[in-house]
Amino acid sequence: MKIITKISESRDEINVFRCVGKRIGFVPTMGYLHEGHLSLVKKCREENDIVVVSIFVNPTQFGAGEDFERYPKDLKKDAALLQGAGVDFLFTPSVEEMYPEGFSTAISVSGISDGLCGSSRPGHFDGVALVVTKLLNIIMPHKAYFGMKDYQQLQVIKRFVADLNMNTKIIGMPIIRETDGLALSSRNIYLNADERKSALCLSRSFAFVYEALEGGETEVSEVKTIVENFIKDHPHTRIDYVQFVDPETLKPVKDLTKDFLLALAVYVGKARLIDNNIFKVM
Ligand code: AMP
Repeated sequence: MKIITKISESRDEINVFRCVGKRIGFVPTMGYLHEGHLSLVKKCREENDIVVVSIFVNPTQFGAGEDFERYPKDLKKDAALLQGAGVDFLFTPSVEEMYPEGFSTAISVSGISDGLCGSSRPGHFDGVALVVTKLLNIIMPHKAYFGMKDYQQLQVIKRFVADLNMNTKIIGMPIIRETDGLALSSRNIYLNADERKSALCLSRSFAFVYEALEGGETEVSEVKTIVENFIKDHPHTRIDYVQFVDPETLKPVKDLTKDFLLALAVYVGKARLIDNNIFKVM
């Protein structure tokens, strides 16, 4: 595996393979890798000739007071994991390389990025759209892989890639969880032992929704209250949002008679955790 830090070098190295007809696959990450990230890398390895992974903690997608400065890092361990997963290139640019002096461009995706994390983290998806556009322009992959853990992010990326006619196929991958149900996240490292127990309330709340649906419940407000009360019963938790939305538009659903996405964002101690599940309604 070759580690590259410069944009010009990544172009030189990767273009060689594209020119001879090799399929380039790409997995963008912010590092501190876990099995969730590695599931994307594995799929990418299966479907492409050349696998590129990036590690870049992107300052433009963090708001004031968020965890940009303390975001966990372990490049040595990450590089070893990626080497073991058969990655060809690890791209780890500096902030200055990605945003040199004079950088002035913004990208904004309206509609799909307005609700959920878009309301709680103003500007977050502008930052995501900007960095992912830059990374796709630098690597120019045939396919890029993203987790459904960040469901809204995946939808936002699909939107601007289509809108801007970018020549990369966006692949969404399922959420990887611990055996007890907690969705893997680099931010789980922020949880102490008590908070780690409370964090299970996100994924465990899904069972109450299934139960309500089986009981014939169709009222959003009823099921929302059940989920909110369940989460609130857990120490160290503070709800950011509990939203029942259309899986395509991410607009709130009026009732639970069609397929919907339950999207959750909950602070557990200092960690802001997100999770989601698509409920199929017969
Ligand atoms: P991050 O390093 O948090 O920016 O995540 C990089 C990519 O890994 C994103 O596409 C995430 O959606 C994906 N990812 C993070 N956690 C998981 C998980 N538990 N299961 C599947 N994909 C994940």
